[in-house]
Amino acid sequence: MLATAQRLHGFTESVIREMTRVAHQHGAINLSQGFPDFDPPGALLAAGAREMAKGDHHQYAITWGAPAFRRALAEKQSRLMGMEIDPDAHVVATCGGTEAMLVALMTVCNPGDSVVIFSPFYENYGADTILAGARPIYVPLHPPDFPFDRDELRRAFAQKPRAIVICNPSNPCGKVFTEEELTFIGELAREADAFIITDEVYEHIVYAPHRHVYTASLPGLWERTLTVGSLSKTYAITGWRLGYVIAPASIIAQARKVHDFLTVGAPHPLQEAAVTALRFPSEYYEKLTAAYALRRDVFLDYLRRVGLKFSEPQGTYYVLVDIAEFGHADDTAFCHWMAKEIGVAAVPGSSFFAEPVRYLIRFHYAKKEETLHAAGERLLRLRQKA
Ligand code: GLN
Repeated sequence: MLATAQRLHGFTESVIREMTRVAHQHGAINLSQGFPDFDPPGALLAAGAREMAKGDHHQYAITWGAPAFRRALAEKQSRLMGMEIDPDAHVVATCGGTEAMLVALMTVCNPGDSVVIFSPFYENYGADTILAGARPIYVPLHPPDFPFDRDELRRAFAQKPRAIVICNPSNPCGKVFTEEELTFIGELAREADAFIITDEVYEHIVYAPHRHVYTASLPGLWERTLTVGSLSKTYAITGWRLGYVIAPASIIAQARKVHDFLTVGAPHPLQEAAVTALRFPSEYYEKLTAAYALRRDVFLDYLRRVGLKFSEPQGTYYVLVDIAEFGHADDTAFCHWMAKEIGVAAVPGSSFFAEPVRYLIRFHYAKKEETLHAAGERLLRLRQKA
């Protein structure tokens, strides 16, 4: 047999997506792969139906994004970031945040470069870094509260990385980086002349008193920051595959080429429909945050009733839970057992950690309240069955 590319041996298939298959196999409630089971906003669905029925937008859009989409996105993000985002110079629309991250890394990395990634990390980052020809340097966020150690980060930057990836708010640990932490990271990036790639797909899912700080809007950081965003989580449309990179014009000019040759473009009619959502008033985002705070409270209450130890999420819709006391061989064995015997699927925490952490599992709660109650009732049986 001919050997396939060596770089592919540096990572495995996605465990998150695998756990969705395991959930289906056992008919388990799927709290593994993070996507909603509730409908997108009605006005957005109506806009989608209108776009599909029209003949206008069924062919390619401009490769870096339909003008109306970029304009609406730039208006929204300018407002939130408190700075002028130019729809014609600072934006590339992509097929989801997933493509946006790969585009960002391929835009900045040279072969043999290194990229600092906080661990635990969203599993795509390691694979994307390797696909971009670079090597990850992992810096731990320490459970249970997930701060980083400044000296550990300094040591990583001493290796002269090309970039650092921040997930803020963080999947899977729910950490929201403070302005002070981001400023410190920014100082190290400036000293090392490194890029900052910040994945902000959960920007609207942050629980008070925590608040989201846009790294690109901090003093002196715009010029080296690539912001990765997505409409998937904000409007419950993970299947539409709409994301973007926002960065200075000189970076975007290069990122457009990467994106063009990777995918040509994000779905044109869906970009046009999304303009409706991007123009939602601020109440939409307030309600979104409140709805997620409620889902969090419902789900965490069950975890408390079961007596599980967990790190309270500051943002995102994920929670890492400690399963050490159940005495399974490891987190993977536990997740397979739980899907089969309890009927709830989660993701083994080890797929997010570079360090040998085998006692955490990740649940997500982007689900209808009734789904969370059903899952919670099943989890109440954990102790009887374990
Ligand atoms: N971001 C979601 C998660 O972490 C879904 C990822 C995906 O499968 N694209 O579960």
